[in-house]
Amino acid sequence: MRTPFIAGNWKMNKNPKETQAFLDAVKGKLPDASKVETVIGAPAIDLTTLVAGAEGTPLKTAAENCYFEDEGAYTGETSPKALKEMGVDYVIIGHSERRGYFHETDEDINKKAKAIFKNNLLPIICCGESLTQREAGQTEDWVASQIEAALAGLTADQVKVAVLAYEPIWAIGTGKTATADQAQEVVAHIRATVEKLYNKDTADAVRILYGGSVKPANVKELMAKPDIDGGLVGGASMDPESFIALANYQD
Ligand code: PEP
Repeated sequence: MRTPFIAGNWKMNKNPKETQAFLDAVKGKLPDASKVETVIGAPAIDLTTLVAGAEGTPLKTAAENCYFEDEGAYTGETSPKALKEMGVDYVIIGHSERRGYFHETDEDINKKAKAIFKNNLLPIICCGESLTQREAGQTEDWVASQIEAALAGLTADQVKVAVLAYEPIWAIGTGKTATADQAQEVVAHIRATVEKLYNKDTADAVRILYGGSVKPANVKELMAKPDIDGGLVGGASMDPESFIALANYQD
């Protein structure tokens, strides 16, 4: 049984004061973590506030990125070791904005995944195709290659507790959601890729999210699909009422 997973990704939005206001607004309104795991991914500058406010509530926390070294002369980077010490739970890696704007490669993402596990954090590993790739019929091969590269060298036990996220680039922040059938098709292919790389137990255990214009109006239909275990949500995760509605999609 895979516990459903609803994660927000605030991107470079909200300051610590706005983070506190969000925490105050969602307090007592999120489901128990055994029913739906809820996570907010926030900018590094907000994580101290987020972690303190989430303590004692079902909400878990994620950084939106980290570096693959624990410390050193890497100006401007965020240490996974420090994230763990702060009490952060997850780190989002491989988001298409990081790959596109900041030129992160599959190799970087794999190094980050290993650093995250080394520090007893968990990764949320994103993959997804561009519109050109979808139209050229390359979606499945492309996302499988991204997943294979990101997971290289990880053990089956690590992959079982990792979270993967299928985020078609053409659906992120565009208001264009992949249909539930399109999302299910690719997520099932990602699960089959994990089975091929590891085994059926691992593929059955790993949680795979869909991301791309998820909102309260479409979350139920997406979550009804057998292989979709949750949502990675950008825009609709910033308003507390919308996040509460997403988290309680089962009601
Ligand atoms: C995202 O940032 O990962 C995302 C899916 O954004 P949005 O929900 O706004 O499309």
